[in-house]
Amino acid sequence: MTMADRFFHNVMPDFVRETETEAGGDSLMHLLAMPYSSLSHQLKRSALDLKETVVIETWGFTGQLVQDFTLYSGTLGVAFLLFRSFQVTKNANDLSLCLQIVKACDAASASSRDVTFICGRAGVCSLGAAAAKLSGEEDLLNYYLAQFRQIRLASDLPNELLYGRVGYLWACLFINKYVAAETLSSTNIRQVTQEIIKEGRSMAKNGSSPLMFEWYGKKYWGAAHGLAGIMHVLMDVQLKPDEAEDVKGTLKYMIKNRFPSGNYPANEEDRRRDTLVHWCHGAPGIALTLVKASEVFGEREFLEAGVAAAEVVWKRGLIKRVGICHGISGNAYVFLALYRATGRSEYLYRAKAFASFLLDRGHKLLSKGEMHGGDSPYSLFEGIGGMAYLFLDMVDPTQARFPGYEL
Ligand SMILES: [Zn+2]
Repeated sequence: MTMADRFFHNVMPDFVRETETEAGGDSLMHLLAMPYSSLSHQLKRSALDLKETVVIETWGFTGQLVQDFTLYSGTLGVAFLLFRSFQVTKNANDLSLCLQIVKACDAASASSRDVTFICGRAGVCSLGAAAAKLSGEEDLLNYYLAQFRQIRLASDLPNELLYGRVGYLWACLFINKYVAAETLSSTNIRQVTQEIIKEGRSMAKNGSSPLMFEWYGKKYWGAAHGLAGIMHVLMDVQLKPDEAEDVKGTLKYMIKNRFPSGNYPANEEDRRRDTLVHWCHGAPGIALTLVKASEVFGEREFLEAGVAAAEVVWKRGLIKRVGICHGISGNAYVFLALYRATGRSEYLYRAKAFASFLLDRGHKLLSKGEMHGGDSPYSLFEGIGGMAYLFLDMVDPTQARFPGYEL
């Protein structure tokens, strides 16, 4: 596959002002010029339609059988979509269906050894706890918290987001956000954090980055398996000053060694192939971490690097996939993060442009096979579940958060 085949050329204007009057041009241009309130209404309607489809295909038609319980590609992702839908619409049916689905995922994941939010048991127990809390079911809340506390981390666990320590930490933080602060003690969180820092320092020995990590023998940089994901979660926990310095130093090492295009390598071993513009590998996931760093550390360098990475996403981010892990839906979150950080309408416009592109053409491109629907076509991370999630997040863009990544 050549590079040109990976993405649709972005021919949308760099900025379009919203107007009350009918805009000329095609249906996509029409969406771009539409007042935000009208567009967000359309996105919300489409999100709720998509949600129904996802529920019917993954829960109704399967006889409520859970084959893959994970948030990433399986049934828990549907529950998470319903959880988000409840937050936006306050429709109590969404919350009760969410709890019903989590219950089935609980049974299906009882013997799983995976410990993270996105791919493991911690996702089931923490979403169960959060949903039980919202619906006021005290016994159920205590049940999921007790289940969560039984999760044990193996000593040889990796550190990355999808299967490693930070993926477990993220689930702890999710519980503390949605149930109550200190539900999971800072002592426990501190202990896991320390192990991550210790391994990162020892792996970095003699290198020019203060922290380095490996997953299956490769030193990844991206959000899913690498540095960006690990640094992102570390910025959400209490760090000692020297640890915070190491996080900053690691991000500066990445910025210094990025491609001339502004994109980032997928890993240390392959520093020449400038091809991937995904949340999992490349500029989008790293941009989210850089924007966060600018907010946490207040240094201009991080925001500038985030802006540069977002330019890559604007030019090469309309990749021919729909999902949030490696697809257009996920890439839109870069602009939402920059909009939250800067309040600049050009970033909201760019998020709107990616969402409008999907709203206008998504179905057609998917049905003609011109865009890949993912190996799990209804899933949250690879399929149209992610598109539905993005559309829900567009209703109030200041509240948008990349699922399982931005708290
Ligand atoms: Zn991916």
